[in-house]
Amino acid sequence: MNDSIYDMYQRPLRDLRISVIDRCNFRCTYCMPKEVFGDNYAFLPQSELLSYEEISRLVAIFSKLGVKKIRLTGGEPLLRKNLQELISQIHLVDGIEDVALTTNGLLLDQQAQALYDAGLRRLNISLDALDEELFGKMNGRGIAPARILQNIDYAKQLGFEIKVNMVVEKGVNEQEIIPMMNYFKDYDITLRFIEFMDVGNDNGWSYEKVVTKQEMLQQLQQIYTLTPVEQAYYGEVAKYYQYDQHKAKIGFITSVSESFCSTCTRLRLSSEGKLYTCLFAADGFDLRAMLRSGASDQELIEAISQVWQQRTDRYSDERTAYTAKHRKKVNMSYIGG
Ligand code: SAM
Ligand code: SF4
Ligand code: SF4
Repeated sequence: MNDSIYDMYQRPLRDLRISVIDRCNFRCTYCMPKEVFGDNYAFLPQSELLSYEEISRLVAIFSKLGVKKIRLTGGEPLLRKNLQELISQIHLVDGIEDVALTTNGLLLDQQAQALYDAGLRRLNISLDALDEELFGKMNGRGIAPARILQNIDYAKQLGFEIKVNMVVEKGVNEQEIIPMMNYFKDYDITLRFIEFMDVGNDNGWSYEKVVTKQEMLQQLQQIYTLTPVEQAYYGEVAKYYQYDQHKAKIGFITSVSESFCSTCTRLRLSSEGKLYTCLFAADGFDLRAMLRSGASDQELIEAISQVWQQRTDRYSDERTAYTAKHRKKVNMSYIGG
């Protein structure tokens, strides 16, 4: 390990991503391929998930350590019952300035109102294609894009601030980049293109399947004039561009082609209560064991501080074809994106 590299990194702890459930109603080919996550896949039983009380207690502790932003994710977070109760509880925690949710959007028609009433205002909704057959294939469940588009519309009418996330995989959906851009431009919704990443060990990732930000830009610049937007805050992950006169922007998440480990301010809490300092880590620190054996707030604060101070993660800076294939990495469904 080269200590000097880590000395150069100044990474205050700011964001906590919480996976509230490891199950999902989709089987996206790039995340939970159905050949691996089949009908008999053993997802965690309810008793192994952190309860809302446990999560809220941890959020209060994280807030004391500097966390200001919480993102709820999964698996599919809307599969967790009464999610609005957790949102209300988190909103009561001192020091938390921003709560957001990442979802595939399928259940928003049933839940968006309750989430809004609980105080949630920001949604990231995943949608990878407008073509019906292609999207059905990519989500592994034949779900039509129209259902997600309707729900995006509905959530927007309720007043949510929405971003749409599209994972782009070479040979699969790069031809959807322009149609997606054209569609969301008219809705003034910010669209973010995510480079396909080697999360977990099951999605068949290789460098050849990545469409880089530069390649996407080349496509888009044939039609739009794009102007780079300054970073809004330290550690902002997406690189944004303004186009034409539109208020909405487009963004790129460039974990593969332009990694951003040196400004990574995030911690991740898995559905079963393990703390991960990196999306690509093999294992996490077991906070649930501490919680359930009666640890005090002070003990939890000390343990978490130590985990953060000792972190040396820079997976995306160091990624090679070898690490992508051979390093053991946690499944995306446990820790969310
Ligand atoms: N189920 C929710 C959803 O799809 O929005 C939340 C969890 S999902 C794991 C969070 C984000 O990770 C989504 O935007 C998804 O597209 C992204 N993601 C999953 N697998 C990915 C991969 N291999 N490369 C890049 N992004 C990925
Ligand atoms: Fe489910 Fe989200 Fe993963 Fe797709 S990306 S399988 S919707 S958790
Ligand atoms: Fe942070 Fe790990 Fe991603 Fe680097 S690879 S930005 S350390 S989560």
